Amino acid sequence: MIRGRLKSINLTVAWSCRPGIRPRRSAGGVSTGPLRRLGARIVAVAASEIGGGEREASTWRFALPWSDGARKWLNCWSCQRTLPPARVFCPSCSALQPPDAARDYFEILDCDRSFNIDVQKLQQKFRDLQRSLHPDYFTQKSQKEQELSAKQSSLVNKAYRTLLTPLSRGLYMLKLNGIELEERTDSGMEREFLTEIMEFNEKLAEANTEAELQDIGNIVRVKHEELTDDVNKAFMKGDLQKAKVLLAKMQYFSNLVDKVKEKMIPS
Ligand SMILES: [Zn+2]
Repeated sequence: MIRGRLKSINLTVAWSCRPGIRPRRSAGGVSTGPLRRLGARIVAVAASEIGGGEREASTWRFALPWSDGARKWLNCWSCQRTLPPARVFCPSCSALQPPDAARDYFEILDCDRSFNIDVQKLQQKFRDLQRSLHPDYFTQKSQKEQELSAKQSSLVNKAYRTLLTPLSRGLYMLKLNGIELEERTDSGMEREFLTEIMEFNEKLAEANTEAELQDIGNIVRVKHEELTDDVNKAFMKGDLQKAKVLLAKMQYFSNLVDKVKEKMIPS
């Protein structure tokens, strides 16, 4: 009865939480069980910050799985039972499921949809998934499951590679918001910035000793880290245009970091 009408719900609770995660079992005395069973995810939190990223008394906005047209309730291809959203394996018969096109890379790797992700948690989740999807486990299974394991495994790899480095993670977050950044094009970049990059390139070309290379490497790495911090702040504020400008600059420094690494490898 409710399904198809209710698209999102606001719930005011006293609890700390962040967007992108599944609601806790209960919040402020309100059971979130029914929402959890429907596959609800927190998409926005309106609250005052109390420091350290923790938030107190909040209004959570939950998105329900059918609220975007792409997300349908699926049945297991093997036992036909209805699947809870975002399941890689069927909880009833354990059959591996096809990739769900409605899931983004953050959901695939079960991470908060944030630029400032917990990289250790990301790596752990990646290793766990790769282990459970490894083709070796599927040699005795049906042809269909062997193919699904290859598909799921390559999707998990792609998601991990994208989210691991700040540059590709930031670009992906922009893309999720409908903002595409062109490959490094000098047009639109400040002249001062381009001169700075040109000078780094010249210094790098002239550097002959390991000490010189290390010096340049340290400077460009610090610049890259500063930009990463600024991009994080821009995303935290929801200033996507600012994030776009900073990520465009980060492309140049990321390229310089790679060039230094290449030159440091003894030939
Ligand atoms: Zn099943």
